[in-house]
Amino acid sequence: MTQQKTYALPNTTTPGSNVIFNPAKCNGCNHCVEVCQCDVYIPNPVKGKPPVILHPDECWYCGCCVNDCPRPGAVYFNWPVQQRAYWMDKKTGKILRDSQT
Ligand code: SF4
Ligand code: SF4
Repeated sequence: MTQQKTYALPNTTTPGSNVIFNPAKCNGCNHCVEVCQCDVYIPNPVKGKPPVILHPDECWYCGCCVNDCPRPGAVYFNWPVQQRAYWMDKKTGKILRDSQT
């Protein structure tokens, strides 16, 4: 059987990113790649580096990749603009939804 090269190219028509990886904390374990049921990511060809975000527009923000990451702070959501609102209790000042979580 002959070997064929295949290429995976990120979607350039929608360059927005659903998440942001922190390369200083992510060790490229690829757990997030495995838990995503929408195949948003593929493993980085460079071992130890954060996964490649191949199809950010397929993400529906289920939370699995961020919540199941074994290394806190290695990946966090880059919420769409319309979902960045948060609410604050006027009396206590407590934020009821933090847009960065
Ligand atoms: S973001 Fe977390 S789960 Fe994903 S590769 Fe990095 S360390 Fe692993
Ligand atoms: S939030 Fe859900 S759908 Fe989006 S990339 Fe993470 S696991 Fe996949």
